[in-house]
Amino acid sequence: MNTDIWQEDDKKYIWHPATQMKDAESFAFPVIERGKGPYLYDRVGKEYIDIISSWWCNLLGHCNAEINAAVKKQLDTLEHVIFASFTHRPAISLCRELTPLLPPGLQRYNFCDNGSSAVECALKMAFQYHCQTGHPERQRFMCLAGSYHGETIGALAVGSMDLYARLYRPLLTEAIHIDGLDCYRCPYGEQRDSCNCACIEHAEAAFARYGNVTAALIIEPLLQGAAGMRIYPPAYITKLRRLCDAYGVLLIDDEIAAGFGRTGTYFAIEQSRVSPDILCTSKGLTGGYLPMSLTITTEAVYRAFYDDYETHKAFVHSHTYAGNPLGCTAATTVLRILQRDAVLETASATGTYLHAQLQASLGNHSHIGEIRHIALINALEIVASKDEKKPYPPSRRIGFQIARQAMKRGLLLRPIGDVIYFNPPLNIDRTTLDQAVAICTDAVHAVLGYR
Ligand SMILES: *Cc1c(COP(=O)(O)O)cnc(C)c1O
Repeated sequence: MNTDIWQEDDKKYIWHPATQMKDAESFAFPVIERGKGPYLYDRVGKEYIDIISSWWCNLLGHCNAEINAAVKKQLDTLEHVIFASFTHRPAISLCRELTPLLPPGLQRYNFCDNGSSAVECALKMAFQYHCQTGHPERQRFMCLAGSYHGETIGALAVGSMDLYARLYRPLLTEAIHIDGLDCYRCPYGEQRDSCNCACIEHAEAAFARYGNVTAALIIEPLLQGAAGMRIYPPAYITKLRRLCDAYGVLLIDDEIAAGFGRTGTYFAIEQSRVSPDILCTSKGLTGGYLPMSLTITTEAVYRAFYDDYETHKAFVHSHTYAGNPLGCTAATTVLRILQRDAVLETASATGTYLHAQLQASLGNHSHIGEIRHIALINALEIVASKDEKKPYPPSRRIGFQIARQAMKRGLLLRPIGDVIYFNPPLNIDRTTLDQAVAICTDAVHAVLGYR
């Protein structure tokens, strides 16, 4: 194995996120030296296509010249300042420019520094809102089967994936999990495009039972990323919004993965033609440059906290790096590029192209169950048997094997179990995508054979 002193010392010191460190014994982690557009380069000059946008956050390519220039300029002006009772123009500009792109009604911004914190902020805000509007009995949260909202204790509690949460259950408050969402294996036999959302019956049952003691329902709109890039129809959210209204439950829209054009619109929930009460965003917000997140809410929620000091209604929630000016500057620059270059329209067309290419190369493979897609995101679900949609035993680590084959060939895949996916920067070019599809196809063939 080809290791160098940096890789040796990496193994000596660093505990990588969500990684079984023993895997490094058989596969040294590439030491990434620089990035350009959709490409990353390691110390020996090997090129990797970053087809997963470095964990879904890199929106407009690495070392984007415009974002670099804006951040450098801000760096020489003001790097950071306390955000409690101080303000600055980068934060104000960001809110000004983002507000017209948000679902109607959202206009009050709370700043945090990562996705999980934005979710924590939303949960506390919803809970306190009800306490201060005469409903202290609303202490529960609802979430959807297969949901993922982050890794901190509060966010894990509204997560529905055993992989992340099972071990910690004794530490977590008990959320109400709504069953139903798995369109690939739909028990009602509906097709995603013509679906009537019969599975809403599970949500109806949950609201009938717990609707009056629930503070908020939290959802990942249209796209359940960590569950394996599962995609579900907009109509389902419209129905959930109606249930929330009927029972006085707030709707928290976790757009951390889906926001900023990943599903074809600025925010995924737009496609359902409804607004949430609280929206969380992060990942693409700064173009994947800096850790920042926003929890944005309505005037109605904000007003429940606005009173004389002695009433103790303030939202006492803070993070040291809240509102960091470098992050705000990167975010504002991203918004300007997205609008000026009509990036979403181009990405949508590129997404159609990518899907056709993947379908032509791998659509007929006997172990690719489906290739689902929304805008540029394409996910391949690998199965042992296509007819029965039967998965491989997890111990075979099929997705992991394919990713390793792809890495050898210069394509950065990070599978979710046996789902491998493309979620590239929105401005990726077709030539790079052709290359990525070819490598992915070779990697699948190397592990699963040609048919
Ligand atoms: C990534 C993600 C989070 C957590 O964000 P972090 O910045 O990793 O804490 C929360 N919700 C969704 C939908 C995500 O994809």
